[in-house]
Amino acid sequence: MGFEMDSNKDIGKVITVRGRVQPESIGVTLMHEHLFLDLRKNHLPHPVVVNIPGRSEPLITSDDFPATELQIWESKIDSKNLNLANAVAPISDNYLLTDENVAIDEVNDFQKSGGGTIVDVTSIGLKRDPEALRRVSQATGIHFVMGTGYYQKVFHPEDMDERTVENLTQEIVRDVTIGVGGTGIRAGVIGEIGVNGNPITFNEEKSVRASTRASLLTGAAMTFHRGGTGAERHTTLDLVVSEGGDLGRVILGHSDEIADDLELMKELLDRGVYIQFDLIGREFTVDSIDSLDPQNKSDLSVTEKDAITIQKLIDYGFEDRILLSHDVCWKTHLRKYGGFGYSFITEKFLPYLREIGVQEYQINMMTIENPKRVLPFVAGV
Ligand SMILES: [Zn+2]
Repeated sequence: MGFEMDSNKDIGKVITVRGRVQPESIGVTLMHEHLFLDLRKNHLPHPVVVNIPGRSEPLITSDDFPATELQIWESKIDSKNLNLANAVAPISDNYLLTDENVAIDEVNDFQKSGGGTIVDVTSIGLKRDPEALRRVSQATGIHFVMGTGYYQKVFHPEDMDERTVENLTQEIVRDVTIGVGGTGIRAGVIGEIGVNGNPITFNEEKSVRASTRASLLTGAAMTFHRGGTGAERHTTLDLVVSEGGDLGRVILGHSDEIADDLELMKELLDRGVYIQFDLIGREFTVDSIDSLDPQNKSDLSVTEKDAITIQKLIDYGFEDRILLSHDVCWKTHLRKYGGFGYSFITEKFLPYLREIGVQEYQINMMTIENPKRVLPFVAGV
């Protein structure tokens, strides 16, 4: 079969939007970013939760929010309303990344600061744009690895309740083996897979099972949005194991949220997964950059807490299981709109880690060697 022959060619290669590449060529890699997406559904003003009998999950709608908020919701982000967008965030435009020229500028900054590859984990339902990703890759020389799979429930297909694990698996496998839509551009990683948990819903469970089966069939790694709340992450990993999945092919994203819980982190790492700090730099704006100061420990930011936890995990010997990224997904995360874009880690965070004592080979491990180990496809089953 054609698929078997082709899948053999994938083994040991990183699958980018411009085709297979050797792992040695990927360089410094951001493991969880977004270039183009539509996140508006997640930030509707005054969300209304509607429970419908017979539906396993509530519908979330906000068509009926107060009229005066409509004007703000529908306004465009500009220099005058940046503070409003950052503070209460009722401006829908903030949740749209759609401008290719802006994307090229921002990615060029990453390239100039030593970057090599960006993993774009924009999954199904978020208006993924394979062809735009390929054009940005051509324009900047940066490799892009594209995601697939199912994100949080508001982005699930309308008929998610009726979908079977087999059906979801087929969709994900098709994105990885044939390509997304009619583009022929293949996903190179499965995720971000949305699991908010508390509790893990039936549809989230189906999505985890389907992602695991697709990972086993194709050899692609899996990357999670959270993977549940707190220790619930173990339940998600149990689901992966119950499908025969390899936890060494699993990345737990947004682990910044459990950076304070070192015991939980160690337990999860002991199971073989990768722990990813991917909200790095989020709280900084161009004006606040000087606050990233190793001498000033009075009021720690999320990014500074991440750095301390990373240092501790390295001390425990887990440097081969740590991954880094920014999760750029709003306009206000971009430099053009006052944020730090895709180059905060290379320009600011890595020098900060060096200052607090992290060794150069450990930085190499987290930014190059670990991505180089987890992204290449393994043999499918
Ligand atoms: Zn994300």
